[in-house]
Amino acid sequence: MKELQAHLDKQKKFFQTGKTKEIAYRIAQLKKLKQLLIDNEQLLIEEVHKDFQKSAFETYVTEIGLVITDINFTLKNIESWTKQQSVSTPIVNFPSKNFIITEPYGSALIIAPWNYPILLSLQPIVGAIAAGNTVILKPSELTPNTSSALEKLLSETFEPEFLKVLLGGVEESSVLVKMDFDYIFFTGSTRVGKIIMREAAERLTPLTLELGGKSPCIVDKTANLEISAKRIAWGKFVNAGQTCVAPDYLLVEESIEDELLIHLKNSIHHLYGNEPKESPDFPRIINDAHFDRLAALMSDGETVIGGESDKEERYIAPTILNNISLEDKIMQDEIFGPILPILTYTSVEECIKIINARPRPLALYVFTSDQRLEDRILNTVSFGGGAVNDTIAQLGNHHLSFGGVGASGFGSYHGKSSFDAFSHQKSVMKKPFWPDVPIRYAPYDDLKLGLVKKVLK
Ligand code: NAD
Repeated sequence: MKELQAHLDKQKKFFQTGKTKEIAYRIAQLKKLKQLLIDNEQLLIEEVHKDFQKSAFETYVTEIGLVITDINFTLKNIESWTKQQSVSTPIVNFPSKNFIITEPYGSALIIAPWNYPILLSLQPIVGAIAAGNTVILKPSELTPNTSSALEKLLSETFEPEFLKVLLGGVEESSVLVKMDFDYIFFTGSTRVGKIIMREAAERLTPLTLELGGKSPCIVDKTANLEISAKRIAWGKFVNAGQTCVAPDYLLVEESIEDELLIHLKNSIHHLYGNEPKESPDFPRIINDAHFDRLAALMSDGETVIGGESDKEERYIAPTILNNISLEDKIMQDEIFGPILPILTYTSVEECIKIINARPRPLALYVFTSDQRLEDRILNTVSFGGGAVNDTIAQLGNHHLSFGGVGASGFGSYHGKSSFDAFSHQKSVMKKPFWPDVPIRYAPYDDLKLGLVKKVLK
């Protein structure tokens, strides 16, 4: 406990020097982070593979590459994001100048989950550095190889008073969230998110919660079913389904279920061959507890594709279940694994009712060529973010902020939103001493009130 506090004390002292507020310093740190990723790409790919057999391609495309492009985007824009911003002056404040100074919160705590261990540790750090904060990162204990590699590489690259990785599990994390950080950025489960928010409330620490949930994926009869199946299978089974924005369940218009299933079967075959277990591109489940949880969910409904598992290897085949009811176990909590249940609907109202009866999801996907249906879904269902006719790919656009709503979290990041998440906007009005307009001062009278009413309308 004392040791953890000492790290934060050092960072607070360093923040007070004002060094992190220098734009040149921030740029230099971002460049160092980028170089670390370039120099250690192979090592990081190997460490992630040791943790859950993720392929080099997926680790690059869904983790390292995304962080590098986010750094590039940030480097390109940091000068303009950090500039003092003038805003217009309403008549009541005449004469004055009004402007916003963007300042860092101070010492930020970033707590990361295991499922994209590089991306979800480093992408928030990009925003924290760009905004001028110091950072303590607590990566996940469930990816020990990747987390240790991050600890080693980051400690070789950055001064601990600026950026420090603290390894550990629930025990260490629970101590950290009780400390006096100026900002907390948490990515993880909704259950733990509630604990973090309770702790943050004790000190009124501002925070971002990037949580999970059951993200629906709707397919209607006007969709191109072959392409839809390909994009759904890719988004569901990448990372073996252990993706916060993976389609959690399918809502398929009843008349096209059989045809879609044929295409899904072909797509899975195309992605991972006859024996997905032998495919070098299909990862494993992160630990035994998650394996057991997922294996138990496979007894729901009817298995139409997959269904095989191997506890020793923590392998669960890409699996599709149909004849699922809303009461089934698999429809209660986020699945977070390679199992995709299918529910059917006959009217869009039914579909909307099913989604809106549950906590607001992190993502929503709709596959359709019907503009009216698309509009209806996008305008009546609340969700964090999503895509029309694709899955997950929206995360590759830094102009789209990423975050949840309701039980899937609040606050957002990526690109400029990451900079905003870690910044406080300090609004300032500057007045000259003359003229000193007398109307606001007592004693008040009807003439003053009449004038005020003319202005404030
Ligand atoms: P988790 O909530 O179990 O753990 C996340 C982090 O919190 C870990 O570093 C862990 O050590 C720490 N932690 C656990 N219990 C704690 C406690 N009591 N006090 C303080 N810290 C604690 O989540 P996970 O299993 O690592 O990740 C899976 C979950 O994360 C899923 O629900 C998924 O949807 C969600 N997720 C969300 C996003 C997003 O961007 N919205 C991204 C990835 C994962």
